Amino acid sequence: MTYVQSPSLPIGLALLEEQLARDLEYLELPGKPWVPERSSGGQPVRDVVVIGAGMCGLAATAKLVLTGITNIVAYDAAPAGLEGPWETFARMQTLRSPKTLHGPALGLPQLTFRAWFTAQWGTKAWDALDKIPKGQWMDYLVWYRRVLNLPIVNGVRMTAIKRSGDLIQIDIEGAETGPVLTRRLVLATGRSGLGGFAVPDFLQGIDRTYWAHSADEIDFDALRGKRVAVIGAGASSMDNAATALEAGAKSVDLLIRRKQMPRINKMTGIGSQGVVHGMHQVPDGWKWKFVDYTSATQTPPPRSSTLRVSRHANARFLLDCGIRAVRQDSDGLLIETTQGPLRYDFLVAATGFLNDFNGRPEFSAIAPFIRTWADGRYTPDMGPQRPSMADAPDLGPSFEFRERVAGTCPMLANIYCFNDAAMLTHGKVSGDIPAVSAGADRLVRGIAASLFAEDVETHFANLVAFDTPELMGDEWVDATPLLRKENA
Ligand SMILES: Cc1cc2nc3c(=O)[nH]c(=O)nc-3n(C[C@H](O)[C@H](O)[C@H](O)COP(=O)(O)OP(=O)(O)OC[C@H]3O[C@@H](n4cnc5c(N)ncnc54)[C@H](O)[C@@H]3O)c2cc1C
Repeated sequence: MTYVQSPSLPIGLALLEEQLARDLEYLELPGKPWVPERSSGGQPVRDVVVIGAGMCGLAATAKLVLTGITNIVAYDAAPAGLEGPWETFARMQTLRSPKTLHGPALGLPQLTFRAWFTAQWGTKAWDALDKIPKGQWMDYLVWYRRVLNLPIVNGVRMTAIKRSGDLIQIDIEGAETGPVLTRRLVLATGRSGLGGFAVPDFLQGIDRTYWAHSADEIDFDALRGKRVAVIGAGASSMDNAATALEAGAKSVDLLIRRKQMPRINKMTGIGSQGVVHGMHQVPDGWKWKFVDYTSATQTPPPRSSTLRVSRHANARFLLDCGIRAVRQDSDGLLIETTQGPLRYDFLVAATGFLNDFNGRPEFSAIAPFIRTWADGRYTPDMGPQRPSMADAPDLGPSFEFRERVAGTCPMLANIYCFNDAAMLTHGKVSGDIPAVSAGADRLVRGIAASLFAEDVETHFANLVAFDTPELMGDEWVDATPLLRKENA
């Protein structure tokens, strides 16, 4: 009798991992290593270094390994298990995304969150699950990394990028130090991409004890009994406001410039494989139009996060409340708004991130040379110029940077911008969960093609040198001598 396990019973991670290993074997993955080894002045040279081991860095590293590009390493400044926002500054309770998204699974069913979840808790628990708790998403990413045995080193920060002949030299600090040489560099550096926090001008000069950016580490316990303001009406605004309220803040005001809350999640509404694969192929004017429209209409905060705030009687949504100026004095902060002056003890700026490459020291050597959309790709007939869009890097077809002036920084062609800053050129395939596998695929195809092209002489020499016979010579008899004899 064959025993068929009930699908509602958890099979356990060990069995899931066996199934994954078998699937990989069926697909002949990982592919055999094929990139010729290189060294420089006796120093080893990596084929690819990935900076960042958050979700994008993991997907990119996994795809490289599966493609047979194995002389690689990913570095992350964060300790293992604390990469990305999930266990640090993400203050929501669950992901916004539906639980069914296959995220970084790279087309492998056993690598999905769903497979990982049901292997441990069964399908009934899966059916009962509403949204994915953020900590559980991090646990899944930790498993993803382990089960694929990805070459990641934590506690290592990249501090500089330099040119070294035709190679790239990066400086690293932390658990490993020193220069590292690599042929290709992938910047999977996250939502702050190549910039940093977007901080409004009115906060310049205000003491940091009075305010924080939503992605800062914030001591919410210290806000107990305090009057708190949060700027914005996005997901982070809600989650920071809710966290302050839950920590016992005396009051929390959401200062929202808009007259209405954004209510419709436009891009999610039209999400499809067409958008994923088509957006980077449409003419630039269309790319601009899509991003401009969604920037104008804005993404609403999740309903659950909004209710998490509004259930508190001491929370206020102040719409049409733009900030004119902020001053600090002996009574905390005095905020001049379009609705009059307001007093607070602390302010959280949920004001997002920049594409300003000059904002991060590790990119200072390449920043002046990076071509942006403002450098000619944008033309006024596309629509109004938004700084956040105009500053976006003008990338090539595989996320590679382009030079602002040809010949000034050729190594940019070997540095790939696999983070949120790529969105205007590539669509949403290098930041959010839904299409990160498609993004990793696009990235790694490009890297594979460029490494192959660069080594084409070696590959040809390998072709010429290859002399293992497939036929041993005993499979046939040359009938020509017989034929000649017959014809003689
Ligand atoms: C609060 C929050 C909630 C989100 N919720 C959702 C959601 O529900 N659904 C969805 O689809 N998307 C969501 N996103 C968007 C997106 O999925 C996440 O931002 C995701 O973390 C992106 O992955 P990433 O790898 O690009 O960046 P990250 O996860 O941020 O990883 C980047 C990594 O790079 C490392 N790093 C950066 N610079 C260096 C350096 N110089 N040297 C070494 N390491 C470096 C960092 O330590 C970090 O670990 C959310 C984003 C945020 C901020």
